[in-house]
Amino acid sequence: MAAHFTGLKKALAYAFLADQEHGQQALTTARLKTCEGCPNYKQETKQCGVCGCFMDIKAPLATNRNPMKLGRIEVTHCPKGLWPGIEASVKKQKVAIVPIGGCDYDLAQYYKN
Ligand code: SF4
Repeated sequence: MAAHFTGLKKALAYAFLADQEHGQQALTTARLKTCEGCPNYKQETKQCGVCGCFMDIKAPLATNRNPMKLGRIEVTHCPKGLWPGIEASVKKQKVAIVPIGGCDYDLAQYYKN
């Protein structure tokens, strides 16, 4: 039963959160590896303790809606700016959305408010 509930919760989270995926498995893997070594990461549910997102849903995304900001579309980033840099190809697609060159820390600062 708990597994079904988690599955439903994740399906709803994906439906709300996801905008575009970046399609780069290496980037997803690098992001998840960073989370797994982070003290904010909740291994049991694969959630970030800062933003509350499921990392297996968020890590493959290039852009997402932020539920804390009324669904604002953002370039997907770690709220603490700890993720590895976004690949140039992803950045190129997002120039219109983020007017900064942006490492992950810059993105976290940019979207802080
Ligand atoms: S998104 Fe950032 S703060 Fe959250 S668990 Fe991953 S590395 Fe830690």
